[in-house]
Amino acid sequence: MQMPLVLDGVAIAAEIKAEVAIEAGEMIARGVRPGLAVILVGSVAASEMYVRSKVKTCGELGLFSEMLTPPESVTTDELLRMVAELNARAEIDGILIQLPLPAHVDTKRLLEAVSPEKDVDGFHPVNVGRLQSGQPGLQPCTPAGVMEMLRRREIAVAGANAVVIGRSEIVGKPMAMLLLNASATVTVCHSRTRDLARFTREADVLVAAIGRPGFVTAEMVRPGAVLIDVGINRVTDAASVQRFFPHDAGRAAAFQKRGSVVVGDIDPAAFALSSAYTPVPGGVGALTIAMLMSNTVKAAKLRRGA
Ligand code: NAD
Repeated sequence: MQMPLVLDGVAIAAEIKAEVAIEAGEMIARGVRPGLAVILVGSVAASEMYVRSKVKTCGELGLFSEMLTPPESVTTDELLRMVAELNARAEIDGILIQLPLPAHVDTKRLLEAVSPEKDVDGFHPVNVGRLQSGQPGLQPCTPAGVMEMLRRREIAVAGANAVVIGRSEIVGKPMAMLLLNASATVTVCHSRTRDLARFTREADVLVAAIGRPGFVTAEMVRPGAVLIDVGINRVTDAASVQRFFPHDAGRAAAFQKRGSVVVGDIDPAAFALSSAYTPVPGGVGALTIAMLMSNTVKAAKLRRGA
């Protein structure tokens, strides 16, 4: 069997970002600087890290960015006012509300308050509807990144059996819809699916978006399948590190140093059977910010016609 192709998300993200920087440069030359506003509520370390890298990437590509940091105690009404102001500002093309929000905030109401034209996360019902009906619009960054990765590495999905594990609004459902729009035959599996392996073994393209380390094992995968691993799971016990990475001295050293390593939803042992796969880290996760930048430029073009 041939060695599988590693779908290098870092390299593909660099390609996308370079193109976005060129487009942004052309728009700026015409007097339109694409702008992104990010709302970060409270101080959750992981969210802060994500938001900072989003803002930093905007700067690198020439996009304007702004970070709003209301305290944990902020009310839904205060956030709604903040969103309304951003909706009204001409120089803001994209509005991103970093999730999860504190439990007392009405997340659904807030996401629906973002103007669909500025909804760079693609979570507004109008954009969900546009995706469902195959109309152009803003699409969720992570699944859109997967499609971009497949397209750029010439992995055809038309006619393929695509199986998506996970049905979240953020990843699983839009992923299934994008694959369907690209003419794959799509099966969506989830926590209530009976005999999951029966479906996964039929997959030409298998997307795992579950949130459980190494959940998809080699026995569940058809040899030659394309394996897309969306999962990002931190494991903190030595037994799991040994189980998932028995011959990986680099991971063992990283675990010794930091006390944790990141594992996807697919057992790395399954990757050897595939024709192509996304590593974790450095696969799908690396694309999300690049797609956010791409969506911000797209939103600027659609709204300001530049
Ligand atoms: P979620 O918890 O909202 O959804 C998980 C899905 O997995 C659910 O639909 C559930 O039905 C399914 N599931 C759970 N247990 C199952 C089982 N035993 N068998 C079959 N299906 C099962 O999670 P999410 O937000 O969709 O994220 C999924 C994973 O992707 C997480 O690890 C998350 O960290 C990661 N993620 C990565 C990115 C990125 O790469 N940038 C973005 C979003 C999410």
